[in-house]
Amino acid sequence: MLIVQKFGGTSVGDVARIQNVAARVNRVRAQGHQVVVVVSAMAGETDRLVGLAHQIMELPPPREMDLLLSTGERVTIALLAMALEARGIPAQAFTGRQVGIETDSEHTKARIERVTGERLKECLAAGSVAVVAGFQGISRASDVTTLGRGGSDLTAVAVAAALQADRCDIYTDVDGVYTADPRIVSHARKLDRISFEEMLELASLGAKVLQTRSVLFAMRHNVPLQVLSSFSDEPGTLVTEEDKEMEQLAVSGVTYDRNQAKITIHQVPDHPGVASQIFQKVSGANILIDMIIQNVSHQGTTDISFTVPRADLSQARKLMADISVDDKPLNVAVEEDIAKVSVVGVGMRSHSGVAAQMFDALAKDKINILMISTSEIKISCVINERYTELAVRALHDAFGLAGPDKGKKK
Ligand code: ASP
Ligand code: MG
Repeated sequence: MLIVQKFGGTSVGDVARIQNVAARVNRVRAQGHQVVVVVSAMAGETDRLVGLAHQIMELPPPREMDLLLSTGERVTIALLAMALEARGIPAQAFTGRQVGIETDSEHTKARIERVTGERLKECLAAGSVAVVAGFQGISRASDVTTLGRGGSDLTAVAVAAALQADRCDIYTDVDGVYTADPRIVSHARKLDRISFEEMLELASLGAKVLQTRSVLFAMRHNVPLQVLSSFSDEPGTLVTEEDKEMEQLAVSGVTYDRNQAKITIHQVPDHPGVASQIFQKVSGANILIDMIIQNVSHQGTTDISFTVPRADLSQARKLMADISVDDKPLNVAVEEDIAKVSVVGVGMRSHSGVAAQMFDALAKDKINILMISTSEIKISCVINERYTELAVRALHDAFGLAGPDKGKKK
């Protein structure tokens, strides 16, 4: 079999851990499999690099930012290849460019267009382990690009798809996907299996287990994914296509996201073209808007609220400052202390009353809802950040996720 293994930042956080990864790679290889390993930068390294850039300027040029950020993964691929060689395992390290990870030129959030993988195939054919730098690619202009934070997951899935690997194992510091963040809900349960779609919602809603785009990519190319811990030998969570059993519960998991910020534009003139003008600016800057609410119109004006990633807030603010409607600047207010809590489940398609149950659970704990959004398999509420943990626990209990004999008591 051909197996792609991906190790995150904590798993390669220091030399001892890199040795541990080498041992794991060796174990799989010793079973007769071909192995491609994708690694992240050492834990905290990408943040450190971002911090350095921000000491110089608030909005660093994205092209140079990518050059800077891509260095973290260069360190870990070289060290891991050395650790493998030191154990007598032939290995070669490759940057994104060397294995042909071709992307568009949206620096800091580039999309993979193609993975040629020629050198990978050669390397595997020669009986070596290929060690690939996650998170980076190369644009048509031959500039280094990065794939967005957490992008090494995407590298792993894209490489697995390109090589038609039998499995893509994502090793991380948690041993699977849980019904809620176990740091908040102590009796959260590990799921054996979860559908691509649910995982996609959980990922995009802030469960930091897998990067959202990697799940989308895996779903489109039907890459069998497994999330497991690099520190234990427990089975992980399999991310697969949906089946009947998964639909039996209305809700499979509760998640939260503290990385959003809310922008409200007060009293914008209520006529055609205004929303388009505002949101084209934001999407033109490739900022992902999550929720949008427009209120009832009063005296020809209306309020529009929307959420953006906190990391993009200062840029979004700048963009808003450049807009004028009917020759007047926008009246913009920003709230950073918000959080989004969500319940997710493919079972919502066939169960009714989930929203009511969610609002009821929040109300019982006197948590005010600021914004609501729904999709076929998810309901999200924006609340004050202060109540995040309380809300997650309340929802986990309300939907009985701890299993028949736990929960409620707490
Ligand atoms: N090192 C990058 C980050 O911290 C990519 C990754 O870890 O997946 O976002
Ligand atoms: Mg990661």
